[in-house]
Amino acid sequence: MEKKDKESSLGITVKKSEDISEWYSEVVIKSELVDYSAVSGCLVFRPYSYAIWEIIVAETDKRLKKLGVQNVYFPLFIPESLLKKEAKHVEGFSPEVAWVTEAGDTKLNERLAIRPTSETIMYDSYAKWIRSWRDLPIKYNQWNNVVRWEFKHPVPLIRTREFLWCEGHTVFATKEEAEKEIFEILHTWEDICTNYLALPYVKGRKSESEKFAGAVATYSLEFLLPNGRAAQGPDAHFDGQNFAKAFDITFLNREGNKEFAWQNTWAITTRMLGIMVLMHGDDKGLILPPKVAPVQVVIVPILFDATREKVLREAHSIAKELGKHVRVKLDDRTEYNPGWKYNEWEMKGVPLRIELGPKDVEHDQAVLVRRDTGKKETIKIASLSKKIEEALEHIHTSLFEKAEKFLYGNIVDVRNFKDLGKAIKDKKMAHALFCGDEDCEAEIKEKTGATSRVIPFDQKPVHEGKCVNCGKDAKFWIYFAKNY
Ligand SMILES: [Zn+2]
Repeated sequence: MEKKDKESSLGITVKKSEDISEWYSEVVIKSELVDYSAVSGCLVFRPYSYAIWEIIVAETDKRLKKLGVQNVYFPLFIPESLLKKEAKHVEGFSPEVAWVTEAGDTKLNERLAIRPTSETIMYDSYAKWIRSWRDLPIKYNQWNNVVRWEFKHPVPLIRTREFLWCEGHTVFATKEEAEKEIFEILHTWEDICTNYLALPYVKGRKSESEKFAGAVATYSLEFLLPNGRAAQGPDAHFDGQNFAKAFDITFLNREGNKEFAWQNTWAITTRMLGIMVLMHGDDKGLILPPKVAPVQVVIVPILFDATREKVLREAHSIAKELGKHVRVKLDDRTEYNPGWKYNEWEMKGVPLRIELGPKDVEHDQAVLVRRDTGKKETIKIASLSKKIEEALEHIHTSLFEKAEKFLYGNIVDVRNFKDLGKAIKDKKMAHALFCGDEDCEAEIKEKTGATSRVIPFDQKPVHEGKCVNCGKDAKFWIYFAKNY
């Protein structure tokens, strides 16, 4: 994530197919989604990206509340003694923790971690609040920021040292209730990814080496990006009683006996914005799925001195009418010509553009242009509203289908190690039989550079298949790909 001086050229100068990393850096900066900051690896979310995030937050939050989740806010700082309470958890996070050691000139008695995640500070309180089965379930979530001081090469929105997310931390009296919630949450993530971000995925359980630090099992949605790299999307962790035991979260059951509680944690993060940009964008810049586009329709009036007022009046009237149903912007700036504006809104990925000139006004019509296909259509103004509603639906569907075709066109079943190596080299996601052994997985990573993604829920029969690497009896099918 290099800092660059003000971009001198407008428009995207790199082709997505030629250098996707460079293309991506240009797109996120020039479309004014984000900017680099004075802190390496930390991004500025400009209004355009924040507006998209706000839509994701609002839609997610609505669904979580229907599941009975309540929002809370816990402190940003976590005392070192708390962070260390669950051994696996601290082991997983300690290399990435940023510490506060001083306040003014005074050295603190105990170091304070800037939260990399909030299990430990929240469960300290949960232990105090939970007494009996009547206090359960607890379903708390916080929308906040976390810091993980990564040393890997940062990638805007995909891998940054600070990012935004929700962290849900729920507590149940029984294992069954906790497990049921995992699937409710995964369903919520699928809904947001499919119906808002137009992003297909593979889903399943993470391997033992890839699961969350401290969890019994981690489930996630995984995305294959156009560069052949995979990225983990939203997830849900079944923590069993691991944290309950470390933090003494106990309750008296209906029979009056003391029991440890069952817990889950889950999250969706701003990484989804990066995955969305990488999946849908093209050589002209962003292509935003309509449901998360801050501007769904932009109206560009074509203005000449003689007809200016007439055209503007019609443009305002259209904007007012459309504004009842969609997020519309009338670009009536006079300092730029229509062609300049077309390019700008294309780069910013606005799904639909309406071009309105004096001839159009005369004939009660406008030209509707789709960002994803570039297709132009002349529409009667009276039927614009209906047409636009249909077009937005079509754009969503075709973005999803295009991405789905890419995903399934790039998953290959592999039968032996040679084929696995080739698949990874060819930037594919490999679907392979695996023994489940952590050392075997480490060996695969060393030999191919790929990590396991998920063990899919819908398993093909394993029969008496052998592990793709070690040749021992396979336990399940799993996906391998290089991590982005
Ligand atoms: Zn093996």
